[in-house]
Amino acid sequence: MPLAFLRWGVLILVCLIAPAALAGEAKKLRRPKAKSTKFVRLKGGELLHHAAAAAFQRMSARAREEGVFLRVTSGYRSRREQRWLYERYRKGLGPKAARPGRSNHQRGLAVDLVVGGVTSFTYEWLTSHACRFGFRRTVASEPWHWEYRPHTTRGPAEGQDCLGRDMAPEPAPTATPVARQDAS
Ligand SMILES: [Zn+2]
Repeated sequence: MPLAFLRWGVLILVCLIAPAALAGEAKKLRRPKAKSTKFVRLKGGELLHHAAAAAFQRMSARAREEGVFLRVTSGYRSRREQRWLYERYRKGLGPKAARPGRSNHQRGLAVDLVVGGVTSFTYEWLTSHACRFGFRRTVASEPWHWEYRPHTTRGPAEGQDCLGRDMAPEPAPTATPVARQDAS
């Protein structure tokens, strides 16, 4: 009699454990998330981390409304690309480039933009507005290099731009025209 009880006990135990073990196995077999979903291709063809891309697209749309076109010349870079650029820089053949592993381009969080110098309208627009979208300059010698750092980029105070300058108030809705004074 005790032997029969033992058999039943083992059978019940197996029934309880087997589904759990199978579920665990299925979990292991599930494919990891495709890496490509992390990056988004911008209109110009460059890739950016999806969060940075969304913020950049919002910024770009806003800039366009004000007559500024933000053109990206470099976004995400693989380690290989970064190494190539770094080697060119070291040989004096290319612009400054960070050591592989040290660039936020490799994380898809940096963009190089056509700014045309620090006195251009585009650059002026960026310094006044980019902080609203989480972007800021991080390399003193590279006015074209902007990074998406939403957690450490402070937005402007109410009614001010990113440089702390008072912004022109939004044009008020057209009111009843005031009677014009007679010039004569
Ligand atoms: Zn850059």
